[in-house]
Amino acid sequence: KVRVRFAPSPTGPLHIGGVRTALFNYLFAKKHQGTFILRIEDTDQNRYVEGAEQYIIDALNWCGIPFDEGINKNEKFGPYRQSERKHLYKQYADELIASGNAYYAFDTAEDLDFHRTDHEAKGKTFIYNWHNRLKLSNSLSLSAEEVQAKLDAGDEYVIRFKSPQDETLHLKDIIRGDIKIDTNILDDKVLFKSDGMPTYHLANIVDDHLMEITHVIRGEEWLPSLALHYQLYKAFGWEAPEFAHLPLILKPTGKGKLSKRDGDKLGFPVFPLQWSDPVTYEVSRGYKEDGYFPEAMINFLAFLGWNPGTEQEIFSLKELIAAFELERVNKSGARFDPDKIKWFNHHYMQEQSNDALAELFKPIVDENVTLSAVEGSHDIDVNYISIVIGMIKERATFISDFWELSAYFFEAPKSFDEKATKKALKENTADIMASIKAIINGIENFSTETLQTEIKGWITANNIGFGQVMMPLRIALVGALQGPDVFDIMYMIGKAETVKRIEALVS
Ligand code: GLU
Repeated sequence: KVRVRFAPSPTGPLHIGGVRTALFNYLFAKKHQGTFILRIEDTDQNRYVEGAEQYIIDALNWCGIPFDEGINKNEKFGPYRQSERKHLYKQYADELIASGNAYYAFDTAEDLDFHRTDHEAKGKTFIYNWHNRLKLSNSLSLSAEEVQAKLDAGDEYVIRFKSPQDETLHLKDIIRGDIKIDTNILDDKVLFKSDGMPTYHLANIVDDHLMEITHVIRGEEWLPSLALHYQLYKAFGWEAPEFAHLPLILKPTGKGKLSKRDGDKLGFPVFPLQWSDPVTYEVSRGYKEDGYFPEAMINFLAFLGWNPGTEQEIFSLKELIAAFELERVNKSGARFDPDKIKWFNHHYMQEQSNDALAELFKPIVDENVTLSAVEGSHDIDVNYISIVIGMIKERATFISDFWELSAYFFEAPKSFDEKATKKALKENTADIMASIKAIINGIENFSTETLQTEIKGWITANNIGFGQVMMPLRIALVGALQGPDVFDIMYMIGKAETVKRIEALVS
C-alpha cells in the first residue's frame, strides 16, 4: 500500500517548487490508491514562522490536492508536527550510539571554524569524518570517563553519524537510476543537538519509518542527503523506502534555479496564495490573487518536469492521476515559463460557466459602475453580466481582463479611439447616423435579428458601403473598432442607450 508524504518546513510562504512536490506526491498516491500525508517539519525553531503551517494547508486545499492524513485528519500515525514528536527522537540517536553508528562530539563552533579556515587556507575542504575524527573532540577520541564527565558537566554536544571509510554505496532513485557514492567524501552529519532537538536527517528518517512511508518524492536539493539517509536505514536495520528526486525548476531564461526574486522581476507571483506576515514578510501577491484558476496551476505544475509522452497538454486532475508515472519524470531541470501558465489560464477560463464567472465579475462591475455612473449607482443583473461574459471571455486570460473588454456593455464609452475615428468618420457620417437612429427608434420588436434585418436592408437599399455604417456605429457603441457583433451589442444595451450613444458620437 503506497504511503507518501509532503514534508515542508513552516519557514514562510510555500514556493512554487513546494507545490510541485506536493502535487507529484498527490498524483502518485492517487494513482496507486495510496495515502497522501502532510507532515510539518518544524524542528528548526529559529526558522519557524507563525501562520506558515495554515498557509501550507490552505494552499493545498485551494489547489484541490488536500492531504488524506495529517494534522486533524485521520491521525493514525500522529502527531504530524515534528515539534510534538520531540520525545521520540532521542532514543533513536541513543540506539545509533549503542550500535556504534553514531557518537557524541563536543567541538565548539570556534574550533570547527578554525579547522575550516585552516583547511581553506591550504586549498582543502574540511570534512569531519574518519580521516580526522580522532584528532577532534568526540567520544571516539576521548576516554569513556572523559565523555561521561563532559556530559555530566552539561557541556554542549551534538550526536554525529559515523560515516564508514572506503565503502561504495549503491543508491537507487526512480528518476535517476543507480547512483554510486564513495563514502570517503561524506562527512559525519549531525543527527541530534544538545538542545534536545533532532536535525532534519534524523527526524525525517525516523518519521518516514514510523509513518510507514513507501516512497519519498522530493526536490533535487535533497539528493546530496540520500547517501546519509540510506546509511541511516541500514544502521537502524530498517527497510528503506523508494526515492524519487524531482528536477530543479529553472528561471524563465532556462539559466539557473528559479528564485523568489524572479517573481518580482518578471511581474508574476511565485507563490500560490497571498501571504502576509507582519513580522517577516511583506504581503506577496499570489497566484490566487492574480486570478489564476487552480486547474490551470495544477495543469501547469504537472508539466514542470513531467510529460505524458503524447501531444496532449490539457489534463484535468483526474486525467493527470491516470497518466502520471514517476518513470516519466525528467532528470534535467524544468524551465518555468510564465506565458505557459497564462495559456493554461486562458484555456480554463473558457471552461468555466458564464454564470460562475459572472458571480466573480459582478463586484468589479458594481464598483466601476458606481464610480463612473453620473446618475448614481444602479444594480446590474448577474444574468446580464453572464451574457456579456459569454461574448468577451474568449479574449480574456484573467477575470481582471473583463472590465476592459466589456465596459461598454455597462456604460457609454468615455472617449473615442482617435485612430479609429479618423479612419471611420467621414463627411456623410452624421447624415447616415441620423438615418440609422431613425430606423432604430422605429423598431418595435427590438431584437438582434430585427436590428440586423432593418439596418442591413437600409444599407442595401441605399447602396452605401457597409463599412461606412458599421464602423461609426461600432465606434459610437464601443469607443473603438473592437468587440463582438454590433447588433448583439445594441440589443444588449437597449434601444434608448443605443440612440444616446449614436447621438454622442455625431453631435
Ligand atoms: N523538510 C524538508 C523540506 O522542507 C523535507 C525534505 C524531504 O522531503 O525529505 O523540504
